[in-house]
Amino acid sequence: MSIAQNVAAIRARMERAAREAGREPSDILLCAATKMNDAARVREAVQAGVDCCGENRVQELTEKLPQGAYEGVPVHFIGHLQTNKVNKVVGAVDLIQSVDRLELLAAVNKAALKKGVCQKILFEINIGNEPQKGGFTPDEARVLAGQMGAYPGVLLCGLMAIPPISEKKGDNCKYFAKMRNLFVDIAAEKYDNVSMVCLSMGMTDDFEDAIAQGATMIRVGTAIFGARQYQI
Ligand SMILES: *Cc1c(COP(=O)(O)O)cnc(C)c1O
Repeated sequence: MSIAQNVAAIRARMERAAREAGREPSDILLCAATKMNDAARVREAVQAGVDCCGENRVQELTEKLPQGAYEGVPVHFIGHLQTNKVNKVVGAVDLIQSVDRLELLAAVNKAALKKGVCQKILFEINIGNEPQKGGFTPDEARVLAGQMGAYPGVLLCGLMAIPPISEKKGDNCKYFAKMRNLFVDIAAEKYDNVSMVCLSMGMTDDFEDAIAQGATMIRVGTAIFGARQYQI
């Protein structure tokens, strides 16, 4: 199967999941998770009609950007971001989906103000409350959303989550539902510097469940590009 055929198959699945949930397929964006795929393969995905690309590593982002890998669609940062690499990402990507701690929020804000840009961000939520994972708790996110006026260099555009690895299909529905509730609650507050438009959740194995629970963006790697070849 080519990348184009894979993207078409995912679109068909997205459309079915949206209709089953009584939603408009156009309300759900497809983000290609491009890690470990070179610029040529990323370009193929863009040409096949993905809505945006998400990179995990700063080095891959800075390599593929000048190669024109993402031309035609916005690029997002979706991986763990070290504060000492914030300068390479702020202003270079449309959206940082993985703001997962206060220190990073402060660093992104500072870099954006220095560069004279407004950096769109999502809060990453540790929705499964997993000790080994980063991310805000729902309560932390609620409080911090109310303080976004103090971070004029950024605009909070929504929430992102990677739920626990599931044993069987449907296991993550409860986490996706919690995410939707948090998203709706924060949106209802109409806080300064907050525009809740993006609920980013669902990957290759569970994106239909995420759509059923209200995702407005899914991030898909394997189903577009095939299994990643990790080198040891
Ligand atoms: C790799 C990755 C994805 C996509 O995962 P697949 O299971 O390959 O679809 C989504 N989100 C993030 C943050 C990722 O790192």
